[in-house]
Amino acid sequence: MADLKGILVVGELGKEGLASITRELLGVARELLDVAEGEVNLMLIGEDVSSYAEEGIAFGADKVYVVNDVSAQEFPCDFYTHAVDQFCRKAGISLCLMGHTDLGRELAPRAAARLRGCICMDCVEIRSDVKEKEFVQLRPVFGGKAMAETASQRGVIQIVTVRHKSMSGFVHRSDRRGDIIDWSDQLQKGPVRTRLIERKTEEQEGVNIENAPIIVAGGGGIGGKEGFELIRELGRLLKGAVGASRVPVDEGWVHHNIEIGQTGKIVSPDIYVAVAISGATQHITGILGSKCIVAVNKDPDANIFKVSDVGVVADYKELLPYVIEHLRGASK
Ligand SMILES: Cc1cc2nc3c(=O)[nH]c(=O)nc-3n(C[C@H](O)[C@H](O)[C@H](O)COP(=O)(O)OP(=O)(O)OC[C@H]3O[C@@H](n4cnc5c(N)ncnc54)[C@H](O)[C@@H]3O)c2cc1C
Repeated sequence: MADLKGILVVGELGKEGLASITRELLGVARELLDVAEGEVNLMLIGEDVSSYAEEGIAFGADKVYVVNDVSAQEFPCDFYTHAVDQFCRKAGISLCLMGHTDLGRELAPRAAARLRGCICMDCVEIRSDVKEKEFVQLRPVFGGKAMAETASQRGVIQIVTVRHKSMSGFVHRSDRRGDIIDWSDQLQKGPVRTRLIERKTEEQEGVNIENAPIIVAGGGGIGGKEGFELIRELGRLLKGAVGASRVPVDEGWVHHNIEIGQTGKIVSPDIYVAVAISGATQHITGILGSKCIVAVNKDPDANIFKVSDVGVVADYKELLPYVIEHLRGASK
């Protein structure tokens, strides 16, 4: 597959080292390069990022380019755009991967415009077509009803954002060897058009829904703030996060940062419990990555049952207190 050159993974950091999306991207990059040629390059930008470089190698990078610059935190997107643009040109990158995160969503179109590249956002699968010598991306379209398969024109860089948890990360191997290159002085900073004015930390209800292995979500059928106390209690007992469909957010029963769906968060938990949620396309599109969907709805014809693995036709006001009581008993 000689026409395809290296892959660049744009790294992000989490609370304890590399963000899980970055580990997933390194994993898929590694798999792609098993059939293509080139190297997996990881770029880390920010304050003292060199300390995370070894972790990047252990998760699959051949080379880690670090840009230690505290100012990157103040105007991340301009900074990253210059860095990605310069690096991809210099290294002749074929595929640039980033998370479908706040940063990736903003950075990908800018990088694609600068590099005159092809862009594919919110992908859930990437594979290499050895015969055609190209990388192929799959992404859900029409609210998850169909999958679109895209590949870029020959010789044109592909900029791809990947949905969190859609790919498994490369296994951590502390014996992997790679190079760490300090790129801080080589990067030519360009004009900065955006400026951070204020940083606001969103209030968070319990576990973060984007990383939670279990989510208990309530919908319009919950009927009010009081009903959500049952959702929260079930979430707490299952050690999961609380989510919601659009209706409870619009009604002001819950904070908007737990909305799931097309305009809310895209989630991929191991277990998603949908309580009194009808299953509108805009909601379903945000939960399709869940490994197991459990639905509770009093309407046997509710659309949510079409995508659920376990369906319970019941009034949540009767079912949830019963389940909660049993879980409390089991945890004693
Ligand atoms: C552009 C656009 C973007 C959107 N983005 C999103 C999005 O990101 N996320 C999202 O969720 N929606 C989104 N929506 C809204 C979406 O179309 C639906 O209106 C919304 O998802 C409906 O929420 P719901 O199913 O919880 O509520 P409802 O439609 O009110 O359904 C309530 C369900 O609860 C059941 N129920 C009622 N009482 C009980 C009970 N006691 N016990 C058990 N079941 C009961 C009912 O049978 C029903 O199925 C979007 C819409 C548009 C136009």
